[in-house]
Amino acid sequence: MGNGIVKNLIFLKDCLLETIYSNDEKCICCGEEIYNGKYICSKCEKTIRFCNYGFDIQKEKVSFKCYSISYYSGPIMNLILQLKYKGNFLAGQVISEYMINLIKSKKIKCDYITYVPMTKKRLKSRGYNQTMYLSKMLSKSIDIPVINCLKKIKDTKDQIGLGKEERWKNIKGSFKFSKKYCIENKNILIIDDVITTGATAVSCGLELKKYGAAEITILTAAKSRV
Ligand SMILES: [Zn+2]
Repeated sequence: MGNGIVKNLIFLKDCLLETIYSNDEKCICCGEEIYNGKYICSKCEKTIRFCNYGFDIQKEKVSFKCYSISYYSGPIMNLILQLKYKGNFLAGQVISEYMINLIKSKKIKCDYITYVPMTKKRLKSRGYNQTMYLSKMLSKSIDIPVINCLKKIKDTKDQIGLGKEERWKNIKGSFKFSKKYCIENKNILIIDDVITTGATAVSCGLELKKYGAAEITILTAAKSRV
């Protein structure tokens, strides 16, 4: 397809999404009228428990720097659930704006953005990958390319309800690097929705490390506990 046609299709898709997800200026978390020009009201925003610090996860002698917007509670949890299970892309926009603020305030540097992939089967049943959506929103704003360089090759049990060790075991060997990309000496930002033990995102990171990636940073919407 020509570049012009693709651009038109993207424009049409954006118009369609605007129409479908137009929220009549109501907060997408609580439904109250909004006066701040955003999709989330000031009252809800005030209850977000922002995480203002990064933390490290060490695995197989590699250190991963991790950042999350907030703890997995309140409005952020609400937004994640709306994006993940209800296809509410406005919720995704709000999350991506908070992520962009975090990237800027923590001066996170990367050459590429990538995300935690889904198996083909899961992608088909959900219709979209919420982490890919967030990555594309970030990419547009900070002008860093998104690369679809990981495949999920194992259908795993949901990590929810699993203990710490079980999570690492469950996810092991699930991700495969797609060799069509060269990531040697590149700094990569991995996007996911929730980080708990880090098993999922770190497993992705370890796979990228095998193919020569330099620094890997993990950015998630929320941080949760087992
Ligand atoms: Zn609200």
